[in-house]
Amino acid sequence: LPALEVRDLRKTYANGVEALKGVSLTVQQGDFFALLGPNGAGKSTLIGILSSLVNASSGDAEVFGISVTRQRSAAMRLIGLVPQELNFNMFEKPLDICINQAGFYGIPRRVAAERAEKYLNELRLWDKAEQPSRMLSGGMKRRLMIARAMMNEPKLLILDEPTAGVDIEIRRSMWQFITGINRAGTTVILTTHYLEEAEQLCRNIAIIDKGRIIENTSMKRLLAKL
Ligand code: ADP
Ligand code: ADP
Repeated sequence: LPALEVRDLRKTYANGVEALKGVSLTVQQGDFFALLGPNGAGKSTLIGILSSLVNASSGDAEVFGISVTRQRSAAMRLIGLVPQELNFNMFEKPLDICINQAGFYGIPRRVAAERAEKYLNELRLWDKAEQPSRMLSGGMKRRLMIARAMMNEPKLLILDEPTAGVDIEIRRSMWQFITGINRAGTTVILTTHYLEEAEQLCRNIAIIDKGRIIENTSMKRLLAKL
């Protein structure tokens, strides 16, 4: 059973823009997968459909066999999403942000508190857990996004340009955490428009351009071609 199977996914927005023109791809369990493409290629649209934030026009995707269009809430329980923008409440504390996210999944409070401690610890945020998030450094805010996405212990972690606009040191520390999460068994998909970033981290890659997959191969084979 693949971690993700996307079949002929299409999305036309209300303004007539065809953001996805029949996208199909497969991501195997345990993979560290890159979705590479320029701005406007359709990456965020694809991720939006997988995480139930955008409705597909046609086609479907299955996460561990669960349809994201027909079994939305079950599929969402298997997915952790790290959006590109920092979208937590800066006045809330990291601990509360994580516990509230768990509440969104109906996770009991005691389990939520344990998990929040675990992931805030792993992401080196535990000593900041009770401070308003706006006090965190840029790198810490990025790591908080990852901790929050881990609260449902997703089998598939999707990161949308997680290191966009962050400096190299913060990038490295994020890569380290994401690699650790992948080694621990979580399938990871990351979107980026830097081949360099994908090259350092990912085993397999799909390249998307103008709403179509134009390449889907292993990183090794892609690099050998270039
Ligand atoms: P990427 O994440 O690769 O930059 P997007 O999925 O954001 O690409 O965008 C793909 C195309 O869809 C672009 O032409 C973009 O302008 C368009 N688009 C994205 N979101 C919307 C929307 N909500 N309404 C209309 N068009 C959109
Ligand atoms: P609303 O129902 O109020 O529109 P959203 O659907 O935007 O709320 O989601 C509420 C919270 O859950 C937000 O913090 C959002 O980032 C997060 N979220 C949404 N979808 C997912 C997902 N698939 N995995 C993890 N977090 C998600």
